[in-house]
Amino acid sequence: MPETSPVSELPTIRIGGFDTVSVSRAALAERMVEDCRAARTAGSSWAPKLVFSSNGQGIALAGQDAAFMETMENADVIHADGMPVVLASRLTRRRLPDRIATTDFFHDAALAASREGLRFFFLGASEEQNAAAVARVREMYPDLDVVGRHHGYFGPEDTADVLEEILASKADVVWVALGKPRQEHWCVEVRDQLPGVGWLKTCGGLYAFLAGDAPRAPRWMQAVGLEWLYRTLDDPKRLIWRYATTNPYAFYRIARHTDWRRPRRARHDEL
Ligand code: UDP
Repeated sequence: MPETSPVSELPTIRIGGFDTVSVSRAALAERMVEDCRAARTAGSSWAPKLVFSSNGQGIALAGQDAAFMETMENADVIHADGMPVVLASRLTRRRLPDRIATTDFFHDAALAASREGLRFFFLGASEEQNAAAVARVREMYPDLDVVGRHHGYFGPEDTADVLEEILASKADVVWVALGKPRQEHWCVEVRDQLPGVGWLKTCGGLYAFLAGDAPRAPRWMQAVGLEWLYRTLDDPKRLIWRYATTNPYAFYRIARHTDWRRPRRARHDEL
């Protein structure tokens, strides 16, 4: 059996240095619902679960930046956002059942939240992109309770106001799009000041996709782990340097920091 992460109690497998949860997208959405229910019951004694994701950029960054690695170790859940992480898992003793790209998971989460009456708050991105993304979400999920939104270009002096807004909204899930590594550091920093919030979920470029500012790669490119290439061709100025520098190092880290033990062969008498 895989190890169990002590806080999330979800099975994990170590890939590229991160203990990555081995669950389906649907199971993760279910866990969100359970945690948010528990948060409502616990009230002020509940600190939000930190739900982060793993991709090549993050794996590479954690190897270069000890503070980012330490921040990632505070996560309750790290899920496989990048296809290379999922492909690597297929060579280990426990293949991940799903890639959980945040851009896909958002829709599982929104459906579950609409059904269960959970409240979403959207933090991050420019004011314009945040507003456009939230408008689109309202259109797509008319039953979803969107209780607030705030752009992501605020300084430390404004953090208290942003936190007050989130608390007043009674959000169950706060989607945090402040870019890596700011969004992860921010979640760890404010966690204890947001009692009763169920989840802080980092979501990077999600609002660009929701607002229609960035197209998703064709499905075949997603399936073979080339979504990064599609994004680079779409926005080369911003992404070519990012992927050229992070990809080779991320592959090295996946090779070095993954639990490669193969599944144990069942003995004849166990068959
Ligand atoms: N962002 C922000 N505040 C900042 C830095 C970034 O709100 O101080 C937003 C940015 O506008 C973008 C998101 O964070 O919407 C990060 O997107 P990126 O494409 O870098 O994420 P990824 O590629 O990791 O999904």
